[in-house]
Amino acid sequence: TWRHPFLLYHKFTISDNNKRVVMSRLAVVFGGSRGIGRAVSQLLAQRGHRVVVVSRNKEAAQATAESLPGEQHLGLSCDVSKEENIQRAFETVSKTCGTVGYLVNAAGINRDALLLRSKSEDMLSVLHTNLLGSMLTCRGALRNMLSHGGAIVNIGSVVGVKGNSGQCVYSASKAGLEGFTRSLAKEVASRNIRVNLVAPGFIRTDMTTGLEKEEAVRRIPVGRFGEPAEVAQAVLFLLESPYITGQVLLVDGGLQLAL
Ligand code: NDP
Repeated sequence: TWRHPFLLYHKFTISDNNKRVVMSRLAVVFGGSRGIGRAVSQLLAQRGHRVVVVSRNKEAAQATAESLPGEQHLGLSCDVSKEENIQRAFETVSKTCGTVGYLVNAAGINRDALLLRSKSEDMLSVLHTNLLGSMLTCRGALRNMLSHGGAIVNIGSVVGVKGNSGQCVYSASKAGLEGFTRSLAKEVASRNIRVNLVAPGFIRTDMTTGLEKEEAVRRIPVGRFGEPAEVAQAVLFLLESPYITGQVLLVDGGLQLAL
């Protein structure tokens, strides 16, 4: 452990694999209990970061936090579509864990339907969870990051980049998140805060249960669905890359080339 004179709050560790110096951070992962967010939480914990796992289901968040390597992780309940929940979550984090260094927004839902058949309440749920929710968690984290810097990764979708019939609202939520990511990156770059977006293709999680059919797989150039850990790798790369901000990184096995 080595302490940099200008960053007395942070612990430095040496990674065994590549001997790179990595700063240990407090990471908050919304949607961290399952799927992509869970894989991100696992990778961050393996890298020596302290992780706060957040989801609506408190038991699931706590169970994931307990399953991570290391003992200092925390599981919290929060519905990102409710502003007061987010506020409470950040209050708990700052009281019990300290200053947030990394934020990952992986909480997301879909209510796929043709627009003509979409119910307004479903449209609002998708926008409130996927778009407004991420905006509010970013705002909450920024209040922490302004003094020490930090990094944010939002999880978008290849559908936000390319569009898809039957997913107008979901696609709009993810495309909105892209514009938000680029603008926020410009807004906070001078404060040593970076904001990027990872846009996955078809990833094997609860969200895609039942979708892994031959026809869908055939459209993917690499010929298979992705694994959550493969998205987590990209998230970690962006969190730890000090000179990358405002980027959209597709992790889709080449699907965007076929759409
Ligand atoms: P999962 O359904 O497997 O997991 C979603 C996670 O988000 C869970 O932890 C869930 O926990 C949490 N969550 C959902 N709604 C809320 C909410 N309102 N407040 C807080 N937490 C919430 O999804 P994936 O892992 O597949 O998806 C993660 C992200 O990646 C999403 O944003 C999704 O849109 C995006 N994505 C996924 C793709 C895929 O193929 N799987 C492709 C492209 C993008 P709980 O239910 O307990 O709240």
